[in-house]
Amino acid sequence: MRTPLIAGNWKMNTTLNEAVQLVKSLKQTINSISAVEKLVCPPFISLAAVRDELAGSEIKVGAQNMYSEEKGAYTGEVSAVMLKDLCQFVIIGHSERRQYFNENGPMLSKKILAAIKHNLKPILCVGENLQQYEAGQTNFVVSEQFKTSLAGVEQSGTLTIAYEPVWAIGTGKAASGQQAQETIAFIRGLAIAKYGEKAASEMRILYGGSVTPVNMAEYISQADIDGALVGGASLKTADFTQIVKITSQKGLKG
Ligand code: PEP
Repeated sequence: MRTPLIAGNWKMNTTLNEAVQLVKSLKQTINSISAVEKLVCPPFISLAAVRDELAGSEIKVGAQNMYSEEKGAYTGEVSAVMLKDLCQFVIIGHSERRQYFNENGPMLSKKILAAIKHNLKPILCVGENLQQYEAGQTNFVVSEQFKTSLAGVEQSGTLTIAYEPVWAIGTGKAASGQQAQETIAFIRGLAIAKYGEKAASEMRILYGGSVTPVNMAEYISQADIDGALVGGASLKTADFTQIVKITSQKGLKG
């Protein structure tokens, strides 16, 4: 059985002070909601403060990115060794990283291996852009991203996958529940082929892309969708709280 996960990706939003205020209010509203794992991913500069604010709570902390090397002359980068004291999860290969920072499969597989080595739980993002979607290439693109980003990753362990169609991120044009389910079931098939039936049935696969309190029920009622990676709505306490509540009502998946 899979416990659903609702992860908030705050992206490059919130100052240190705003991050602490947001997490203080989330602690009031979502901490005690059961049957769903809750995660916030603030910018690097707020990780320590958010970790301290959430100490002893049921809300987990994640980073939005990391570099694959452990230390050294990589100006501006942050490693798994540095993150492991600050958070439990790390988002890898978000489409904005692929698009603006040229991240690709071989780079991402190194990051995932480094995250796993240091006991960080990776959330690997995959998803097609609008042109690829319109050309009917969704499964091909997702399959290539899955294979290259997980090359050399022999155990699925704590890996989570987030299917995020790029055309749905931050656009308000969310995928339908059925479309997300079809692609996520396809991804679970890829996981079965690579990691076997048992590991794949335990792996959480999330949907991401314009998730709101209005559409969350449609996603979480699908057989293979185990929660959501939430961008814009994760910055609003009321919306994120509703998304967590709706998810908790569905309970365990699988
Ligand atoms: C995201 O940042 O991963 C995301 C899905 O953003 P939004 O919910 O704003 O579309």
